Amino acid sequence: MTVPPTDTINAILERFESQAPATDGLLAGVNIAVKANICTTLGITSAASRMLENYRSPFEATVVTRLRRAGANLIGTTNMDEFGMGSSTEHSAFGPTRNPWDTDRVPGGSSGGSAAAVAAGIATVALGSDTGGSIRQPASHCGVVGLKPTYGRVSRYGLVAFASSLDCVGPIGRCVRDCAQALQIIAGEDPHDATCARVPVPNMINQLDTPIDGLRVGVVRTMINDHNHPAVNAVCEAAIERVRRSGGEVVDVELPHADHAVAAYYLIAPAEASSNLARYDGVRYGYRAPADKNSTLDEMYTHTRTNGFGPEVRRRILLGTHALSSGYYDAYYQRARKVRRLIKQDYDRAFNEHGLHTVVTPVSPGPAFRLGEKLADPMALYLEDQYTVGVSLAGLPAISVPAGMTDDPKPLPIGVQLIGKAFDEPTLLRVAATLEAAWSQRDSFKPQVGMC
Ligand code: GLN
Repeated sequence: MTVPPTDTINAILERFESQAPATDGLLAGVNIAVKANICTTLGITSAASRMLENYRSPFEATVVTRLRRAGANLIGTTNMDEFGMGSSTEHSAFGPTRNPWDTDRVPGGSSGGSAAAVAAGIATVALGSDTGGSIRQPASHCGVVGLKPTYGRVSRYGLVAFASSLDCVGPIGRCVRDCAQALQIIAGEDPHDATCARVPVPNMINQLDTPIDGLRVGVVRTMINDHNHPAVNAVCEAAIERVRRSGGEVVDVELPHADHAVAAYYLIAPAEASSNLARYDGVRYGYRAPADKNSTLDEMYTHTRTNGFGPEVRRRILLGTHALSSGYYDAYYQRARKVRRLIKQDYDRAFNEHGLHTVVTPVSPGPAFRLGEKLADPMALYLEDQYTVGVSLAGLPAISVPAGMTDDPKPLPIGVQLIGKAFDEPTLLRVAATLEAAWSQRDSFKPQVGMC
């Protein structure tokens, strides 16, 4: 890949002064960018929204504190879909990010700036957030590794909330090891976040070179189908073959409720978002619409929220408010919660009854699409998430690993998704590292910079 100019990619929203970081620590001197919805005290935390265009956080996110203490150099904030809502980074108030592999294409989203920054060598590692696929899908589209930890493994303190029962912070890096190292630093309980699990953090790194002999890897056959781009199916099959050749035992597994994941997610996530975003009312935070002296308080709220939020965020708030409104609550929101439970039970069954260690699926039904291609059709964009949102509803860890390319004249990267048991990131990372090492083209594919 010839790396296009940084300005063209538009991955970074704000650059920070270099901080003279500590000389020891696992991440000493490593250049790390953070998604613009993660609070720092070094600049603006805009979540790529006009609403927070000038918002300076008075505190920093726990993950940022931990990165700094480990010696990282924070280089800036990365572009994203406004408040994390989207799969293409086209819903940023500050212009889209472009895919470094082909600048006519999207990098995926919503952590598209983080994935593109790593793919283009602007940052060694970037933090993203994943509510329904926002770390995994852009990592796949940009040819880098993206890790969504188990829900509760990493503190959400200082993450601008989208859907609190789903939001996770995680790393995007050039290789599995970089992601494992970053996770090692940011993981672990936090008194500032009651949903951050009080469980010990295992060593994320020391199993990376352990062979996967005897590990059981589930394949969801229905997810390799004619609706996918043919290259996605071919890459998945090749990855499964690599697992087998590396000593893994491949078994077919069913997730009977997987087809309902998109519907359930697009009720639960907007419902939570409508509640979380109620705070942006022009009084307490950020943007306030200019008022003429005759306008009422209600008019001020209306103008602030109409002008301060982009169209996708407004759509989500309306969807979520409707799903939660009296008379519809049982039919939509409660029903979606029941479906969520069934989806989780599918995974529990797959892992426990089949004795699986990990499950492999596509990340996305296709490679990166063209800018503008899906903007007019929100449903088409929502379907981008069909293989990632179920994992989020189940709260499980998952990683996207580069595993192949399309054979277009401008080849595009394609990742596969590995899903792990709750709080078993070390095994997930071990399978991911094996898959990464077994891909013979990986050396020419990976930009030759970074920690690994
Ligand atoms: N694309 C999904 C959405 O728009 C997921 C976003 C995310 O994970 N933040 O909601």
